[in-house]
Amino acid sequence: MLARFAAIRVWTRGGERAPHKSLLLLYALAALQRREPRLIPFARLEEAVGKLLRDFGPSRSTSPAYPFWHLQSDGVWEIPQREALQHDLDIAEWRHNPRVSVIREAGAQGGLDAQLFKLLRARPDLVDQVAAQLLKTSFPPSIHEDILDAVGMPWVPVTPIASRDAAFRQTILRIYRHQCGVCGYDGQLGSTDLGIEAAHVMWHMAGGPDSEDNGVALCTLHHKAFDRGALGLDDNCRILVSEEVRGGQAVEEWLLRFAGSPLRPPLPGRPQPATRFVRWHRKEVFRAPARAPRL
Ligand SMILES: [Zn+2]
Repeated sequence: MLARFAAIRVWTRGGERAPHKSLLLLYALAALQRREPRLIPFARLEEAVGKLLRDFGPSRSTSPAYPFWHLQSDGVWEIPQREALQHDLDIAEWRHNPRVSVIREAGAQGGLDAQLFKLLRARPDLVDQVAAQLLKTSFPPSIHEDILDAVGMPWVPVTPIASRDAAFRQTILRIYRHQCGVCGYDGQLGSTDLGIEAAHVMWHMAGGPDSEDNGVALCTLHHKAFDRGALGLDDNCRILVSEEVRGGQAVEEWLLRFAGSPLRPPLPGRPQPATRFVRWHRKEVFRAPARAPRL
């Protein structure tokens, strides 16, 4: 029964992100953990999942009605008013994009499939498994915790990184001299790196390869900021900072002042992040618009 979750498509061809379904399901799983009723009013989901989509989805606008409606065909989600809604939606809407106003005005509710809900209520370990699966297929590890916090779910154990990733990490750290590409931080404790990580520019789960031209070494803070879309890169690998970034003096110091600075280059002869990956990140992850560059 859990295989249904694994079969849900969260990426379209070409690596376009569609994290709506994962975010809605994580929200529903968190509600299940809090022992809330199975069926959740659309009005509540619209607000809560809308906020999750704004914070963790791509910048382009998306409606929570989309996952609310389409998860039905993945066999994990039920809308009891489905038949009644059929009268109010034309065929195209029924298949592709239901009108939000119709769903809202019908007072529609949605919830996990009843059998699944019963199984998951009885087996908290399976809830963890499904949540881990949804996180792993939709988001890079650096932001899993932020998402769990936002849906109100305790930390779930996600499968450790594969050894493939270890090789990518070592290569990227080496070609960037174990320094953050944004700020140059190069902390070590004894003989090991302290808070320096290898970031994929095009996320691995979106089809981004483990290649030198799809990686950059970043300190823990700038890795998180890059994966959340607070930072991005232009086609010349200059640093973009989202207008949505706010905070006090330390934020100025650690984020804002890098707007327009060039990414620190890798060792001579090694590639900078390729334009196609940088463009993917800008379209799918970066929170546009960017601030004006600092002179
Ligand atoms: Zn840094």
